[in-house]
Amino acid sequence: MSKVVVLGAGIAGHTAAAHLRRKLSGKHEVIVVSPSRYYQWIPSNIWVGIGKMTIDQVRFDLRPLYKRWGIRFEQARATALYPEGHGSGNLPLVEIEHTDHDHKGERTFIEYDYLVNASGPRLDFEATEGLGPGKYTYSVCSCDHAAETWEALKLCFERMGRGEKVRLLFGTGHPTATCQGAAFEYALNVANEIRVRGLADKAEMTWITNEYEIGDFGMGGAFIKRGGYVTSTKIFSESVLAEYGINWIKRAGITRIEKGTAHYETLDGTTGKVLFDFAMLIPAFSGTGIKAFDQQGADISERLFAPNGFMKVDADYSIKPFEEWSVADWPSVYQNQAYKNHFAPGIAFAPPHQISKPMKSPGGMLITPAPPRTGMPSGVAGKIVAMNIVDIINKGKTELKHKASMGRMGAACIVSAGFGLLKGQAATMTVFPIVPDWEKYPQWGRDLSYTVGEIGLAGHWIKLLLHYLFLHKAKGYPFWWLLPE
Ligand SMILES: Cc1cc2nc3c(=O)[nH]c(=O)nc-3n(C[C@H](O)[C@H](O)[C@H](O)COP(=O)(O)OP(=O)(O)OC[C@H]3O[C@@H](n4cnc5c(N)ncnc54)[C@H](O)[C@@H]3O)c2cc1C
Repeated sequence: MSKVVVLGAGIAGHTAAAHLRRKLSGKHEVIVVSPSRYYQWIPSNIWVGIGKMTIDQVRFDLRPLYKRWGIRFEQARATALYPEGHGSGNLPLVEIEHTDHDHKGERTFIEYDYLVNASGPRLDFEATEGLGPGKYTYSVCSCDHAAETWEALKLCFERMGRGEKVRLLFGTGHPTATCQGAAFEYALNVANEIRVRGLADKAEMTWITNEYEIGDFGMGGAFIKRGGYVTSTKIFSESVLAEYGINWIKRAGITRIEKGTAHYETLDGTTGKVLFDFAMLIPAFSGTGIKAFDQQGADISERLFAPNGFMKVDADYSIKPFEEWSVADWPSVYQNQAYKNHFAPGIAFAPPHQISKPMKSPGGMLITPAPPRTGMPSGVAGKIVAMNIVDIINKGKTELKHKASMGRMGAACIVSAGFGLLKGQAATMTVFPIVPDWEKYPQWGRDLSYTVGEIGLAGHWIKLLLHYLFLHKAKGYPFWWLLPE
C-alpha cells in the first residue's frame, strides 16, 4: 500500500489528486492537505471583482466530493517536510497546521511515500510596503479579495455617478511581480463597466507595469498571427489599452504605497509617483514557506527549495547568462532531484530563470516580470505528475514517461475585456511553446501556426464556457476526465 500526499487543492493539486484517485486502487491512500475547504476557479475572480459573479459561483466545498471519491482531506497548511523521516522513524513525514474551526492551530504529522507539492504561491504583499488588502490597494488573487475589491469599486462608481473624477490604477505592485494577464484583464473589465455605465469622462485610468514593453506578460512578449498578419503582443496590448482609454507607465517597479499614492522607480533610474483613488495591483509571489529537515532535525530546505521558497525540480538551476538560456533548462517531470518521491507541479515549482530578459535600473533594482505559470500548464503538470506516480506505484517504473515542459507545451489565454452575452469581449491568445524556442523557431521564437490572437465577442463566450466546463470537471461531474486540463 502506498500513501500519496498532495499539498494544495488548486488547479495543479486538485487535478493531481483527481487523477491519482481515479488510477490507483482503493488499497492506496490519497490525502489532500489544503488550508481552505474550497476549490476556487481563480480565473473567474475577475468577474467577482466587477460584481458579475458571486464568490459561490466560482468556488465549491471539496469535502463532499473527496468523501465520494475516497480521498482523505485535511484542512491544514503544510509547514515542514521530513523527507528522511524524523527521530527513530524513517518514513517521510509532513507536518501540518490545521486551519479548520475545531482544530485551528493544532500541529500533526502525516506519513507519505510520495509527496505532490502543489501549494502554489504565497501572495507576498509584504514585499511592497503598503500593498494589499487591509492596506492601501486591492487584489483579485483570491475570491475573497475580489469580493472586497468589488465593494471598493462600487463606491468609485457611486462617486463618479455624483460627478466626481476618480483615478484608477491597475498593474503590478512589485518590480518582479508576474500575472500581468490577470491585472490586464481586470483593468479592461473595469474600463468596460465604466463605459457601459456612461462614466468614461469621470475616470482616469492608468496601467503600471514592470514589463519592458506592454504585452510582455513575463514570457518575453510574443509575435502572434492576427487576421493573416504577424503582429507583436506589444502592438496588440497597447492598441487594446488605447481603445479602452487606459494610459500606461511601463518599465516601472513599485517600491512603496501610501494612501492614494504609488511610488515607483523606472529602468532608466527616474522615480515617480501615481496618485489614485482605487488601485488593484498584483503582489510578488513566493513559495508558501514550507521548510525541510533531515532525520536529525537539521535544516535541509535548500535541498528541496530555491531561495524564493519554490520547490526545486528537474530544471537546470545553474546560473548562466541570458544569451545561454534554453528551453532545455525547463523541467519536464517536476521531480525534486534530491528526494525523488517529491514533485511540484503548478506555481509551486522553482523556474530555472526568468523568460523575459532580466533588466536592472542604474541603482541595481531588478525590474522584470517573473515567469507566468498559468492555469493550463499547471493543470497539465498536475496530471502528468499523477500519471508518473501511478506508473511508479502500479508498475514499479523508475523512468518517468509522462512529460510536460513549458518549452514543449502551448498555452491558451483568454483575456476577458468585458462581460455580457451580447456585448462581452475577450482577447483570445494561444502561444506555442510558452517558453520561446529560438533554436527550433529562429525567426519568431514560437510556432506561428499556433501562436495567434483575436479579440471579440466569441472570446467572451469561450471564456464563459470554460468557466462552466472547468467547474464541471473540478466537481467530478460525469466524464470529467474527458475534459482536457
Ligand atoms: C485573478 C487571476 C486570474 C487568472 N486568470 C487566468 C486565466 O484566465 N487563465 C489561466 O490560465 N490562468 C489564469 N490565472 C493563473 C491561474 O490561476 C494559476 O496558474 C493557477 O491557479 C495555478 O495553479 P496552482 O494549483 O499552482 O496554484 P493555486 O491555484 O494557487 O493553488 C494552490 C493551492 O495550495 C493551497 N496552499 C497554499 N499554501 C499551502 C500549504 N502551505 N500547504 C498546503 N496547501 C497550501 C492553496 O490554498 C491552494 O488550494 C489567473 C490568476 C489570477 C490571480
